[in-house]
Amino acid sequence: MDSLLFPSGRFLGIEWHVWKVVGWLGNAVFFSRFVVQWYATEKRKQVVVPSAFWWLSLTGSLLLLAYALFYQKDSVFIFAYAFTWIPYIRNLIIHRRHKHAHILCPSCRINCPPQSNYCSDCGAPLKAEDEVAVPAG
Ligand SMILES: [Zn+2]
Repeated sequence: MDSLLFPSGRFLGIEWHVWKVVGWLGNAVFFSRFVVQWYATEKRKQVVVPSAFWWLSLTGSLLLLAYALFYQKDSVFIFAYAFTWIPYIRNLIIHRRHKHAHILCPSCRINCPPQSNYCSDCGAPLKAEDEVAVPAG
């Protein structure tokens, strides 16, 4: 068993140091996003990309970028992760805006999808903040 896990005294044949841990942690985090997205899709029985997917993408790609910049110092590897954070952050912002755009039902306190006119649960009419009638005078 020792010769399989620790060939020539290295765990899994890898010479471990700080940047190897950062690189492999980046790989593990980046890979785990696939499991999270798959689980969310199976649970809802429709294609779903939860915000956790974008957080894992962002964290994993930043760890891999750090590994590429400070350890590998390879231009191909650096370029591969240099700009991926842009769509991840953009998608996190859109997720947040969408979540905040939900309308709270005044009668049953359930969050209804943005731009709903009626509560999806109790059917009560919903009014957006800017539509609330202001007394004339
Ligand atoms: Zn309601």
